[in-house]
Amino acid sequence: MKMPGDKRMLFGYHGRYLRVDVTTGEARYVPIGESILRQFLGGSGLGARLLLDEGAAAADPLSPLAPLIFAFSPLVGSALTTSAKFAVVSKSPLTERINDSLAGSAFAISGKACGCDALVVVGRAPQLSVLVIDDGEVRVEPAADYGGMACGDTEAGLRARLGKSFRIASIGPGGENLVRYATISHDGRHAGRGGSGAVLGSKNIKAIAVHGTQRVEWAQPRELTELSRSLSKRSLGPATAKYRELGTATNLVTFNRFGSLPTRNFQSGVFEEAANLSPEELGAARGKTRAGCVACTIGCEHIYGLGKAGVRVEYESLFALGSLCGVGDSEAVLKACKRCDELGLDTISAGGTIAFAMECAERGWIDEPWLRFGSGDALWRALELIGRREGIGDLLAEGSRRAALAIGHNSIAIAPQVKGLEIPGYEPRALQTMALGFAVGARGADHNRSGAYEVDFSDKVDRRHVTLDAVRHAIDTEDKAALMDSMIMCKFLRGVFEDFYAESAEMLRYVTGWDTTADELRETARRIVAAKRRFNLLAGWTREEDTLPERFLTTPLPSDPAASLSRERLEDLVAEYHRQRGWEAGSPGG
Ligand code: SF4
Repeated sequence: MKMPGDKRMLFGYHGRYLRVDVTTGEARYVPIGESILRQFLGGSGLGARLLLDEGAAAADPLSPLAPLIFAFSPLVGSALTTSAKFAVVSKSPLTERINDSLAGSAFAISGKACGCDALVVVGRAPQLSVLVIDDGEVRVEPAADYGGMACGDTEAGLRARLGKSFRIASIGPGGENLVRYATISHDGRHAGRGGSGAVLGSKNIKAIAVHGTQRVEWAQPRELTELSRSLSKRSLGPATAKYRELGTATNLVTFNRFGSLPTRNFQSGVFEEAANLSPEELGAARGKTRAGCVACTIGCEHIYGLGKAGVRVEYESLFALGSLCGVGDSEAVLKACKRCDELGLDTISAGGTIAFAMECAERGWIDEPWLRFGSGDALWRALELIGRREGIGDLLAEGSRRAALAIGHNSIAIAPQVKGLEIPGYEPRALQTMALGFAVGARGADHNRSGAYEVDFSDKVDRRHVTLDAVRHAIDTEDKAALMDSMIMCKFLRGVFEDFYAESAEMLRYVTGWDTTADELRETARRIVAAKRRFNLLAGWTREEDTLPERFLTTPLPSDPAASLSRERLEDLVAEYHRQRGWEAGSPGG
């Protein structure tokens, strides 16, 4: 279908989104007012606003009515380091609340070059299909021959079929089989959390292929180039050295030393085999190469040797498929990481749900005697069953909250999730500002939408005995994350800025020509957080959801008994958070 070229003159933006109904193949550009762009910017913010406009809160997230939004940002296509990112925003099939997951890749650049600031997909194709967006032309092509194919193979196959200029975001078997924590992948990067892959799978869309030539103009190109050079230079300084040299995996050793590495479904904070999974050990045993997202000067990706190929490994995958499942065999853990990438599964939710099932099996609550902590074979078998939704895998594909409700025995008390989203690798009892961040997170337990763990590792709080003073710091990290996810910039840049809001405002001025100020961006960040809360309220959020599983509120961390978080203390923190946000009566404000 050829699109009319209705484009408005803006800097940094196209001023419209592309809405495609894959049931019929009908597509149209829809204008976005400049004031909406200025208020919500792009990425997570613009996605949240469009999701509200689409009335998505009431929809079943896996129904044809539910929109899936790919939101680009004003910085995409510029020379600013780490800016080639996109957000995938929808109602989560895992949490039934808002979900925004981000990925960095050339898909962002090519998608925006299709002449839109966002892509909104609704409907359900009559058969497994690929959505092709070729500049001004949209078509839905049958793709039954790609059924069951891994993400990387789908991408390679479609580029061979359509041409190398296309960039492909695809789902694996997990998304096709509606695993509620399936990912959308491109070029080995994943929009990972919350199940956006299942939403795409429910639309019978195996992949989206984009190719475009429509570039935006920059308001002050010379100043933007100078700023890009300066930011790139600073991005190679000490603030990012940790990510470049060892990668995020270095957290594993640090947390284990503190006695707060989540181990065997959060039953301990010490993993006796942690050294096997350290970046130093992995690098020495297997060899390592470094890589990065397109348009990034930092290059935090560490790819370890595995067979003929390598596997890209982050701390979160190592913890979830390693210590959380009690597996210290690095070969088994790396294979599991790779298998999740192929199946298109979020490693945190996959590991969290399997670790929960292992504990249930050991307690005799489910009759799966093979499912034991420490077994690499069990980890592999569970992933295969989940990807195919076979046997116990059909239940585990629902995530730990739904699985617990089906298993009974009050197993919900040990299901490692908040609002249904499995908890990342930060022990809430030992990092109590992070515990608050998890409890109030709009998409559930989330270390990317709240950077509260940074507060715990600072001298601002006593991380095992936080007081109400921690709340304002937690809010500050949540606001900054909302802005970064909407501009969009990589979080690993955050230590590079001397004055985050002022420098962000400068970037936006050069890109858009707006007279943006630091204070305006503080307000923008709060508005975006409030928009997500508004969505959740419309979707049925209640105050009781802002909490943690019973285990964390009744049992001190065995490896560090001083790390104890009572229900009363968490409730006080959450109440203070709502008060400072102006949400006491349940209103999102703003
Ligand atoms: S720092 Fe890492 S995650 Fe961030 S943009 Fe660069 S390679 Fe991607």
